[in-house]
Amino acid sequence: MKRDSIWNQSFEDLARWCRHEGLPAYRARQVFNWLYSRNAAQWQEMTDLPQSLRQRLDECFSVDLPHIIHRQTDPEDGTEKLLIQLTDGKQVETVVIPRDGKEDEGFTVCVSTQVGCTFACRFCATGRMGLVRDLQAGEIVAQVLLAQRLGKAVKRVVLMGMGEPLHNYENVSGAFNILCGKEGLGWSPRRITCSTVGLVPEIYRLAQDAPGVKLAVSLHGTTDQKRSEIAPIAQVYTLDRLFEALRYYHERDKRRISFEYLLIRGVNDGIRDANRLVELLRGLVCHVNLIPNNRIPKSEYTRPSGQVVTRFVEILEKGGVTVTVRASKGRGISGACGQLATESRSRESITTMDV
Ligand code: SAH
Repeated sequence: MKRDSIWNQSFEDLARWCRHEGLPAYRARQVFNWLYSRNAAQWQEMTDLPQSLRQRLDECFSVDLPHIIHRQTDPEDGTEKLLIQLTDGKQVETVVIPRDGKEDEGFTVCVSTQVGCTFACRFCATGRMGLVRDLQAGEIVAQVLLAQRLGKAVKRVVLMGMGEPLHNYENVSGAFNILCGKEGLGWSPRRITCSTVGLVPEIYRLAQDAPGVKLAVSLHGTTDQKRSEIAPIAQVYTLDRLFEALRYYHERDKRRISFEYLLIRGVNDGIRDANRLVELLRGLVCHVNLIPNNRIPKSEYTRPSGQVVTRFVEILEKGGVTVTVRASKGRGISGACGQLATESRSRESITTMDV
């Protein structure tokens, strides 16, 4: 029988398992402590557990983490991209980003939530792959653990790697549970940002479940027509529906919502776009993150000039919108926003790994 991964188990799951095995509840706490505080890699290391229990755990659960098979560092800004091989051989990328370029301020880990993605946004390399499969909760958490085990002090996690987090809702919730659970990593949920292309039903669901994580919405356009041209799912989840959901979300989680707005030259970077954006966001407590388009292969999209970006920023600011321009890190290693895709990597580059 195939063993499940221990990394997919919530603390409650393991406590239940212990009860079922006739074990005292503190055993689950001991195991979680080994996994999430003491970086155990094998059951045998858990020396304060009876040998018989270590054996039983080994029969029921695998403790293997996915493997890092390639590491690449951007010499410009220190951003590191990890190519990670999952236990079934599929691969995802994780990006480890120094905060403000200073290592001592800790790191942000940009995690993937799916192998590939089904939404096919026109600017995004992952979207070209189609959806291969969802990541399990433990595979999402593992990306954070692997970064930590490389010695990085991880301060924040952004679900902005490959995939659409809200399209893999259950596993993403499971990952929040482990990251924020007292027995897991014990993080405040405000250290986590979940980015979505704008899946309306799941925004309602997230509002109700209220894990307390920050929400970021990829907007990219100010009319349904323009948004759909850039991100086809916008045909289904129109701006009206999206903003209704966001207002509902905001009633529950009072904190501000972030919007990511990709700036594409000649497509959505005009004065009228900026003015419409101001109108659209009026009355909503929010923040806009402008992301000048990062070039991906075979795409006609390019980024606007610095002047055009500045003009866009000025219009938003004049309209009372809080705005920042995201300094995309990792562009030198195709690790920046939208550049993550594993399909195109040749076998050769995988076997010449440098871990
Ligand atoms: N599916 C989620 C998370 C993945 S993308 C979402 O859509 O939000 C994370 C961020 O990277 C999004 O805001 C996305 O718009 C941005 N991005 C994707 N491709 C990009 C590109 N080529 N250049 C710059 N940003 C990009």
